[in-house]
Amino acid sequence: MTTPRLSTEKSAELFERANRVEPGGVQGQGRSASPFPLFMSRAEASHIWDVDGNEFIDFHAGFGSVILGHNAPAVRDGVAKALDENGVTFATANPLEVQLAEQIADIVPCAERSVFPCTGTEATYHAIRLARGVTGRERILKLEGHYHGWHDYVSWSVRFEPDATVNPASNPIPIPASTGMLRAIEDSVVIRQYNDAEGIREAIDRYGGEIAALILEPIFLNAGVILPEPGYLELCRELCTQEGIVLIFDEVITGFRVALGGAQELTGVTPDLTTLGKAVANGFPLSVLTGRADLMDRLVPRGDVLFGGTFAGHVTNTAAALACTAELRHGHVHRRLEALGHQFESGVRAGIADAQVRAQFHRVGSVWTLYFTDRPIRNYRDAALLIATKDNEVQAMFRRWMLERGVYIHPHYMLRGYITAAHTEEEIEHATSATVDFLREHRQRLQ
Ligand code: PMP
Repeated sequence: MTTPRLSTEKSAELFERANRVEPGGVQGQGRSASPFPLFMSRAEASHIWDVDGNEFIDFHAGFGSVILGHNAPAVRDGVAKALDENGVTFATANPLEVQLAEQIADIVPCAERSVFPCTGTEATYHAIRLARGVTGRERILKLEGHYHGWHDYVSWSVRFEPDATVNPASNPIPIPASTGMLRAIEDSVVIRQYNDAEGIREAIDRYGGEIAALILEPIFLNAGVILPEPGYLELCRELCTQEGIVLIFDEVITGFRVALGGAQELTGVTPDLTTLGKAVANGFPLSVLTGRADLMDRLVPRGDVLFGGTFAGHVTNTAAALACTAELRHGHVHRRLEALGHQFESGVRAGIADAQVRAQFHRVGSVWTLYFTDRPIRNYRDAALLIATKDNEVQAMFRRWMLERGVYIHPHYMLRGYITAAHTEEEIEHATSATVDFLREHRQRLQ
């Protein structure tokens, strides 16, 4: 078999230029790749093109923010209409934001009042300050590996190579994600493990009256796809209610994507506050902080917790979110995403069984991951142990293999893919057979 070749000369040239004017040649860690990233120039529906003219089926989907497909006609039309009839931004109260808040209240179980900043990071920042304002407490309970954006409140124990001897899983020392962070904040952060109900109980026994909020990804997608074990979220809910702790579900990825009402709709566990982002506006920068009226009303101007932003309730972005919401409310999009996800899952699982390799496929709806191990993955350390070992090299080989066969899987620290409503059955079939061929070709290495 001849191995397809990718030409990447233009990406290489751009990377050289980029290094002179952008730190590391990229806009942040999430974009970097070795030896250089592919510079993308166009995306439409399920496809993305790089500057060298290579065309890929895109499983990155803008870090999951694109749910209907790139440049989806319904959203493009909604935005075009808003540009024609309204304009770009007023930074005043406007009717579109009222409509969107009404939609969110209808869709998301915990939602009664909403505000609309732009990024997920802003939404989690406001959620935490609100929880502190409401409870008068300072500590935040967060889970290892859960990512809630880059601000100092939450950038602790996000990604690291675990070393149990130095940092015990039962009561980890918070690890800052960056230099330059305020070390004083370390004292306010309590870290525990996902899917460890006893750990949450123990932390609450230890610090209960001092904890303002428990913030978590209800379905843990920043380590691939890790589902909550039965009873885990329910116990978090129960303990938070008992102790007056604000339960925040960070649904920046899961919101709108795993179900219209997010993970809280799927699991039946309702938090006090929720953050949404990404898929809400199909790629336009709009995020949401929503939740119980009595908490949300503590935001200014009715309350005493600051909220603001030039672009909050931004006209174009809100129009995009309204168009995306209208499309998703039909229900057929989520049925289609589930069917495509199922198609991919059954094909890849059959391939794993056939090739008898040590690998496992995890999926929730349209989000999937492939772990090259047969050890159970229940929390961050399980995933990080794998990624910190030589298996990492296998991930890079897999990505390269898929790229050469026209499938783009983003060079992230773990393998995670997003299917959009614009993907076709044929494209899923193509990605499936490329994956199965990889497993077969590398079976010795993967056994
Ligand atoms: N929360 C979660 C769960 C996320 O995955 C992310 C981004 N990947 C964020 C918050 C931060 O969102 P943003 O990058 O839009 O600031």
